[in-house]
Amino acid sequence: MKVGVPKEVKPGERRVALVPEAVKKLTGKGFDVVIERGAGKEANLTDSEYEEAGAALGTATDAWAADAVLKVAPPEPTESPRTGSLLIAFLSPLTNPELVKRLADARVTSFAMEAIPRTTRAQSMDALSSQAVVAGYRAALAGARELGKFFPMLTTAAGTVRPSRVLVLGAGVAGLQAIATARRLGAMVEAYDVRPAVKEEVQSLGAKFVEIEVKQEGDGSGSGEYAKEVSADVQRRQQELLAERVAAADVVITTAAVPGRPAPKLVSAEMVRAMRPGSVVVDLAAETGGNCELTAPGTVQVQDGVTIDATLNLPSQMPFHSSLLYANNVVNLLTHLAPEGELALDFDDEITAGAAVTHDGRIVSERVRDAVGAPA
Ligand code: NAD
Repeated sequence: MKVGVPKEVKPGERRVALVPEAVKKLTGKGFDVVIERGAGKEANLTDSEYEEAGAALGTATDAWAADAVLKVAPPEPTESPRTGSLLIAFLSPLTNPELVKRLADARVTSFAMEAIPRTTRAQSMDALSSQAVVAGYRAALAGARELGKFFPMLTTAAGTVRPSRVLVLGAGVAGLQAIATARRLGAMVEAYDVRPAVKEEVQSLGAKFVEIEVKQEGDGSGSGEYAKEVSADVQRRQQELLAERVAAADVVITTAAVPGRPAPKLVSAEMVRAMRPGSVVVDLAAETGGNCELTAPGTVQVQDGVTIDATLNLPSQMPFHSSLLYANNVVNLLTHLAPEGELALDFDDEITAGAAVTHDGRIVSERVRDAVGAPA
């Protein structure tokens, strides 16, 4: 099977779907790999490193002509997957009906990285998690950079500096990494998540878990590992209790998300106004609308003296390591779908069935069909 990696064309996307190490893994398993010249440039990966790893270099057309195309961002309207090919990328299939239709019409077999089941078996392919680690780390660094204060306590001849206070809302993969990073920089960290199950993880990172007693039906902690959307009443109660913690924080990093839903609004405009001037809100949930009422996705703005950083696509700011982790996820999925080097799809397998979007001219995912309003 020939695998192609085009250079990402979406503005601001600096990641690449395969790094040289991942090319080596694939060629070792008998895959042929063609990389578009310059595909890794933004991630500081050179064409010669790809060649040394066993890839052939080519044009975008050569990469798109492969049997399987590996990408980070969904194809842009200018990019045309070849009829009958395999495509693996983040595809935003629930909110991108035109693309899904285009892929089905071109009989492309497509797999969406964001639809990989969040199970132990699929962990090595879980790109949402690998990229959330990068986003959480970068969010803590952004908070530290934009704050006019030190994170750590310092004792100097010129006086003692008290540590900054960081509040992390949402302690999933990104939130936990933000906590760990802020702690390493010496900040005092508190965190809150609607799932009380994360309390121990938060504490093991040296942060304090903010307890908010809202135990009633529909409290959002969900039946399993994942959060559900909370009711308006519970949200109001959470906000009252959180207001005090937000006002005391120098930096608030928000990462709260509910799969398939807009981000819950946890930080109101009033809460921002109660923060000290110079404080910072880093809203990692900006991709899905933001956790802060004042968030304008894709911008960094100052309101009432508080910086609200809603930069999108944080993983792209650290393209070397985000590409490395993403490439491992993609290679693990590809070798799952083609263990002997040729596609051997088993739609009874939960990973294959969970991540598949289109196959054989059809939209195979029921969730995607419902979301894009396509018939069964
Ligand atoms: P996510 O990005 O969907 O959400 C981030 C966090 O926001 C979650 O922890 C969620 O509980 C929290 N949240 C939602 N609504 C909230 C609210 N109103 N107030 C406060 N917090 C709120 O989640 P994620 O990081 O992708 O994954 C969540 C968890 O799932 C992880 O921490 C992990 O334990 C688990 N997980 C398991 C696997 C696996 O087993 N392979 C893989 C990935 C994640």
